[in-house]
Amino acid sequence: MRRPWVAGNWKMNGSHRANAELLSSLGDVSIFSDIDVAVVPPTVYLQTVIATVAQSSLSVLAQTVSEFESGAYTGEVSVAMLQDLGANGALVGHSERRQLFAETDKQIADKFAALKNAGLQAVLCVGETLAEREAGETLAVVSRQLLAVLDRHGPEAFDHAVLAYEPVWAIGTGLTASPEQAQAVHASLRAVFAAFDEARANQLRIVYGGSVKGSNAAGLFDMPDIDGALVGGASLLADEFLAICKAAQKSA
Ligand code: PEP
Repeated sequence: MRRPWVAGNWKMNGSHRANAELLSSLGDVSIFSDIDVAVVPPTVYLQTVIATVAQSSLSVLAQTVSEFESGAYTGEVSVAMLQDLGANGALVGHSERRQLFAETDKQIADKFAALKNAGLQAVLCVGETLAEREAGETLAVVSRQLLAVLDRHGPEAFDHAVLAYEPVWAIGTGLTASPEQAQAVHASLRAVFAAFDEARANQLRIVYGGSVKGSNAAGLFDMPDIDGALVGGASLLADEFLAICKAAQKSA
């Protein structure tokens, strides 16, 4: 049995005040004792959020990280810096990073490895665009994105990592993949992984992201290969995020 995982990606939203209110409304997430819960604030707020949740079971992840160790990379933040702050890990390959900031599969694999080598959690995001889905390329695209990391760093690099399937057409659009559509992709991703290492494939948490909310979470979590959610918009609303956590706890 895989322990459900739920994370809230705040994207480029928040302020000291709004973050404090949101965390206070979330309260003590340790009541969800059978799941792992994380928040993913903008980098500039990591330190304050980490201090605020220090006594709770909530983990705190960054939204991205540099693949480079240190040096002349103006504007970037390294894995060592995240570690210095006490962050637990980072997302890599979110579709907004791939699409808006032209991150490549190779770069994403380097970020993944940098986190792994430091003992931090990497959350690898994969997903197809609407055009790719309509062209019947979904499995080819998500497999390529997964294999970009698996081929380079091997299945053992995924110990403690999370794989997030996030169809680009469902992110922030209000369109959610149906539980069956998501399950089909999750099962295929697990099969791709199983060709490398079946035992690790069975343990790998594959979570869904794309307009998840309180009202659709349970249906997704009922699926055998959906192990939780990466939540964007709904994670900014404490009641919605708590409802998603509740559904995950029920599925555990
Ligand atoms: C995301 O940002 O990863 C995401 C899934 O966003 P939303 O839930 O708003 O679709």
